[in-house]
Amino acid sequence: MNIDSLKKCVNAKSVPHLGLYIHIPFCRVRCQFCAFYVQIPQEKRVQAFLAGLAQEIELYGWDMGLGNISVSSVYFGGGTPTVLSAKQLVAVLDDIQRWFAVSDDAEISIEAHPGTMNREDLHILRSRGFNRISIGAQSFDDEELLQLGGRVVSQATETAVALSRQAGFENISLDLMYGFPGHSTSSWQRTLDATLALEPRHLSCYAFTVEEGSHFYDKVEQGIILAPNEEVQASLALFTADYLNAAGFEQYEISNFCQPGFSCQHNLRYWQGESYLGLGPSAQSFVSGVRFGNPSDLDFYCVTIAQGDLPVEQMEVLDSQEVQREHIVFGLRTMKGVLLSQVKSLSEINGEWGRAVHRLHLQGLLREEEGYVRLSQKGLQYADTVAVALL
Ligand code: SF4
Repeated sequence: MNIDSLKKCVNAKSVPHLGLYIHIPFCRVRCQFCAFYVQIPQEKRVQAFLAGLAQEIELYGWDMGLGNISVSSVYFGGGTPTVLSAKQLVAVLDDIQRWFAVSDDAEISIEAHPGTMNREDLHILRSRGFNRISIGAQSFDDEELLQLGGRVVSQATETAVALSRQAGFENISLDLMYGFPGHSTSSWQRTLDATLALEPRHLSCYAFTVEEGSHFYDKVEQGIILAPNEEVQASLALFTADYLNAAGFEQYEISNFCQPGFSCQHNLRYWQGESYLGLGPSAQSFVSGVRFGNPSDLDFYCVTIAQGDLPVEQMEVLDSQEVQREHIVFGLRTMKGVLLSQVKSLSEINGEWGRAVHRLHLQGLLREEEGYVRLSQKGLQYADTVAVALL
């Protein structure tokens, strides 16, 4: 897309602060459950990607004029950012700091896979500005890890956490997964115990899903493994919330828990309807009510940027009602919920939408409390149904 076409739609002056998401599209192996856009890293393609990314950062920061907006969070995700060397990652962060107004107290996160982390790189990352690390642990049972296909053993996660702490990372998060075929409460409890023993500040606990495009999807289609059992998952979700609350973790979003003061600022942006800019193949953006995204295609990404254009494939300008609706739907994922006054105001403008809200109340999926609308306990289990009804 020509940069002027997007510039005309995005009102940069109306954006008080911005979050940046960098998609690093490489992983050494594809996990069985994963449907993200990732490729096996080959030197030539990594170099082409980094060259494209440097140009994309400059295009948005300088040519598009987003570089004057204060950036309060930067998130390196993927893929596995740590398949790149610390030197390469720091060079990307330096570019971001050159072209964007990253605030001094910005949260700068990096996702990491235990099999790709070493002492020296972690020290470099921490000393050059990364201040939060999110480690994909998934499980502390080696047989389960084999089943999930990440090709790493639980000992590697323990080492990764220890090395991160030694490098100076205080804000350490672990990603875990529950509810895959054959998963039991006792085994999940052992994983939670092993996790808590490592004293992370933040935990993301995701229910296993069978995503189209993943190896598991094919296996379920062929009848080789069973699809996840929703009742088992619902009971594990309840167990997780109780267990982690008792251990001092606050659930602040359906899948996310933290110790006080350690919620993920970047992810909160998504749920609070704030602007974020996604860079890299397959990254999605939402800036001043305009949604746009890059396609999952590294070749297209590199070629388009080399021509001086943005690698944006689709763009949607939301009207004010759509913005409000999305704000409410994403906000309901948080335990704080959304202001009752916002829900009332949209219900008055759009009667049909208001009736949908009323029906969800009658079904016991929403509750009102202290001037906020929140998902009920039952609503947490059926969050996707609520989202579909309200979008
Ligand atoms: S490490 Fe993460 S992004 Fe890479 S294949 Fe596994 S789940 Fe997907």
